[in-house]
Amino acid sequence: MPKITFLGAAGTVTGSKYLIEAEGKRLLVDCGLFEGSKELNQRNWEKLTVDPATIDWVLLTHAHIDHTGYLPRLVRNGFRGPIYSNPATHELCNLLLPDSAHLQEEEAQFRAKKKYSRYNPPLPLYTVAESQQALKQFHDIPRADAFTISPQFSVRPHDAGHILGSSWLELTVTENGKQTLIVFSGDVGRYNMPILKDPEPPTRADFLLCESTYGDRDHPPGSVADILADVINRTAKHGGAIVIPAFAVDRTQLLMYYVRELHDQQRIPNLPVYIDSPMAINVTTLYSNHHEDYRPEYLREMQGGIHDPLNFSSVHMTRTVEDSKKINDVVSPCVIISASGMATGGRILHHLARRLPDSRSSVLLVGYQAEGTRGRALEEGAQYIRIFGEEVPVRAQVVSIGELSAHAGRSELLRWLSGMQSAPKQAFLVHGEPNALTSFHDAVVSQFHWNVTIPAYLQPFDLS
Ligand SMILES: [Zn+2]
Repeated sequence: MPKITFLGAAGTVTGSKYLIEAEGKRLLVDCGLFEGSKELNQRNWEKLTVDPATIDWVLLTHAHIDHTGYLPRLVRNGFRGPIYSNPATHELCNLLLPDSAHLQEEEAQFRAKKKYSRYNPPLPLYTVAESQQALKQFHDIPRADAFTISPQFSVRPHDAGHILGSSWLELTVTENGKQTLIVFSGDVGRYNMPILKDPEPPTRADFLLCESTYGDRDHPPGSVADILADVINRTAKHGGAIVIPAFAVDRTQLLMYYVRELHDQQRIPNLPVYIDSPMAINVTTLYSNHHEDYRPEYLREMQGGIHDPLNFSSVHMTRTVEDSKKINDVVSPCVIISASGMATGGRILHHLARRLPDSRSSVLLVGYQAEGTRGRALEEGAQYIRIFGEEVPVRAQVVSIGELSAHAGRSELLRWLSGMQSAPKQAFLVHGEPNALTSFHDAVVSQFHWNVTIPAYLQPFDLS
């Protein structure tokens, strides 16, 4: 019988990796990096419990690093098979994987300089060259049609509405003539957002894996535009800056959309908006080239040719380090959108170091902030944040806008699951922190009466 092993995103939100075995063949669904605490990061360095050379294929749900960022390491350690994804995910990975490698190399250099590493010289988890090698193994599959990987595995992707190219997967596993249908939720997006289509619901599955990032809570009700307008107007009145750590993929584009709307409706003053992330700028271009995930009304607006809904006149895209540093000299009110989204690295750190001590300024948190990150510390009301070895006082106002999350809230996850016409034999809850998992477990059991399991890290299950 087929078997599944949870090599990641079990009891935590990162490191998504699910090994499916049938008739001696091995398929890995997603290949994500662990991120967050030191213990989680350490898992990226541990030997995988399965020899990468014995894995035949990798199949991806979407491009986020916690679903793809382990690929270069897998390739470095012997994986030679094809990596299947749709074209948008492939193009996003062309940007994200070398960037991730670059961060790994920088961190190794930093450790060498600070002389704290058990390796001498300290090594990166993988190099830019290794990320390029992984990209050579990518093969495009259709966005929505069925695709046969082998006699054992075939897949049909569906829109997940989470980021550009994001899919949930119906995987049909055939062993000794018997078919088993496994649904992988990937990350489930939101309903009624302005740019991307709603997630399509699953209707049938023998086994179902569902993410649980927000399994314990709903995003607060309220209009994103109203909250954004309120924070921007209040901060501008005091003469401060609005600093927004934002994921380069999707969150930045959505923020640009909302800020442009507010600007066009003259609900906010004409402030300069700095998009200070070369990655976010590249991804924004990619968003402009891929229309297959867009809502029809958004596409019409875009094709109307009046303006690019992602772009407007007061936006300044800063690519170079020099231009980025110049933003430090801006003393009038402005909006600064920069990566990384959880303030774990990237140019946002310079902006936080400069603006956090300023009580006139605001920091807006717009995405999920994982345990152990500076973003989570800010969200939880930390008085000081450590940046570049210094304790930076938090005097700026910190505001969380959960409404801007790319992840379905608890009710939206339940809405997505309610598309199922009959109970799966077993539902596995993954990609959540412990509280979210147990709370969502109880919600699914009480609403659907399914057999629900929270798998442990590295736990195998027979799919019979
Ligand atoms: Zn994701």
